[in-house]
Amino acid sequence: MRKFKTESKKLLDLMINSIYTNREIFLRELISNASDAVDKLYFKSLTDKSIQLSKDELGIRVSFDKDARTVTVSDSGLGMTKDDLDRNLGTIAHSDSMEFKAENGDMQGEDVDIIGQFGVGFYSSFMVASKVRVVSKAYGACEAWGWESDGVEGYSIEAAERAEHGTDVILTLKDNTDEDNYDTYLTEYGLKNLIKRYSNYVRYPIQMEVTKSRELPKPEDAGDDYVPQYEDYTEVETINSMIPIWKRRKSEVTQEEYDEFYKTDFHDFSDPARTISVHAEGSLSYDALLFVPGRAPFDLYSKDYQKGLALYSSNVLIMEKCEELLPDYYNFVRGVVDSQDLQLNISRETLQHNSQLRAIAKKIEKKITSDLENMRDNDREGYEAFFESFGRGLKYGIYSSYGMQKDPLAGLLLFFSAKQDKLVTLAEYVEAMSEGQESIYYAVGESVERLNKMPIVKTVLGKGFDVLLCTQDVDEFCFTAMRDFGGDENGEGAKELKNVATGDLDLATEEEKKDAEEVTKDNEDLFKSLKEALGDSVTKVVVSARLTDAPACITTEGPVSLEMEKILSQGPDGDDIKSQRVLELNAKHPVFETLKAAQDSGDADKVKLYADLLYNQALLVEGMSIDDPVAFAQNVAKLMA
Ligand code: ADP
Ligand code: MG
Repeated sequence: MRKFKTESKKLLDLMINSIYTNREIFLRELISNASDAVDKLYFKSLTDKSIQLSKDELGIRVSFDKDARTVTVSDSGLGMTKDDLDRNLGTIAHSDSMEFKAENGDMQGEDVDIIGQFGVGFYSSFMVASKVRVVSKAYGACEAWGWESDGVEGYSIEAAERAEHGTDVILTLKDNTDEDNYDTYLTEYGLKNLIKRYSNYVRYPIQMEVTKSRELPKPEDAGDDYVPQYEDYTEVETINSMIPIWKRRKSEVTQEEYDEFYKTDFHDFSDPARTISVHAEGSLSYDALLFVPGRAPFDLYSKDYQKGLALYSSNVLIMEKCEELLPDYYNFVRGVVDSQDLQLNISRETLQHNSQLRAIAKKIEKKITSDLENMRDNDREGYEAFFESFGRGLKYGIYSSYGMQKDPLAGLLLFFSAKQDKLVTLAEYVEAMSEGQESIYYAVGESVERLNKMPIVKTVLGKGFDVLLCTQDVDEFCFTAMRDFGGDENGEGAKELKNVATGDLDLATEEEKKDAEEVTKDNEDLFKSLKEALGDSVTKVVVSARLTDAPACITTEGPVSLEMEKILSQGPDGDDIKSQRVLELNAKHPVFETLKAAQDSGDADKVKLYADLLYNQALLVEGMSIDDPVAFAQNVAKLMA
């Protein structure tokens, strides 16, 4: 018996039991080796005119024998001589394929695409097999050789029989134990699944004999009560689809083909809204095919949703969902990235250097952004549908990055314009701003209908300024994180985003300001009584510069608006977060005269009653709930009685 040529048996043990986390990849590794062997022979035929062979003679075959508990992977590739077997399978971490790649450096690509590189993949078969036998005949050789090992001590090489060039790798599966069951590898379904999953895009056909059922011809003398009879038969089928659609140029693929690929591979019923195909060459070359789904998957906004793109290296699946390839706010994008340039870690389950991945991710993000911008500018209807499904995530991206991701996300947002009665981008809002308007105004509430009726919104509109009506709970948080929009690279000329219901809107003219000051001075006592009556509910009571029709409204000072308070109050620390409310009164409204009269008559109870009514009705208008609805109702009744 020959000993494995490594420092210790420990290494082999390590290889088999510690490198891989997922034992089912053994089939991927064996098929990859088979594909490499076929690739090498094909390459030889390209350079050596004496080798006559057509591409369809080349292929891979997977079969199983339930009784013997064997799984066999065969190929019609280059095969191995006795020396090859000894060197390639007897030396752990020796990769002939890697050397081949190095020697024929620039051939990789169109014609050949070698997968192997570490010289360990073959040993992954010992994760599932108690014995591995390899029968191989090198191209052009007369004799075949058999290599056999139990993956523990060593291996043997003896003369063997094989009709044609190529290799069979025959695994005798381990016995099942309480914890481990290997039987799925002895089923047509199980093997087919693995082939489709990991090796679907291997460039040579992977064939398997599959069992099918067909209806027997109806006998001539069959009566009316004839029940159709079926029989099983077997047929050789190519399991993999071979052509990695992402490697083809967009001009060579029809949209129907893309749609089909998207629906089957990403399990969606509807066509994608966008298909983005990327082919990058240079220091880091890769192909990518990305899809924006036509609608949001039901679990998109749930915790369990996993973002990511499928990562392939040389057509072989490495990772089903590589998270690092997508920023959170583009988590809805599905697709594939394939690069030969990635430095995979030895198990080929992860990458060694994330910097390469980060570089690709950056480029991909840019591509997605520009595609969405393109849709926004050229297919507004489609974009609005897209935004309906995924806009929330984009806004959340701005909020959760504290505004750092404002570029480019802000440009992708749509909001409902009160003035134009349709969705607009922030750029369109700014573009349409009237003379003298310094800020972007927005209002937050439950529905567009309701917001349209809000006194403050009406006032701002009355000044000729548009108001964005925001109805998603993330809107205000997004705007607060953004602070402003537009301007040059240094933020020069950016327009501040202002909630019409918070802070000082600075909309009043000099004259109006003077009027307000005067009214305040003349009615010092009244404002004092009102504040006293309302206690801690408000921080102050003032004359409003923003009301036209309504008698009063509630605004806020400081960072927390009424809407924010409403949203945050549902959270864990909700009760601690309070807005600082201001009761603003319209001095031109008849109600103000009534208040003055009550104050002048010295009827403190009446002033308190009025204060209460005004405060609560203003809250109701804002869509806020009032603290004591029963007391409010009683007060209204008291007034009517
Ligand atoms: P890698 O594929 O990374 O080189 P493996 O451990 O999978 O490493 O295989 C080791 C070597 O064995 C390969 O480089 C190749 O030379 C040889 N080999 C494995 N399987 C086959 C096969 N089916 N036909 C020909 N050569 C093979
Ligand atoms: Mg390999």
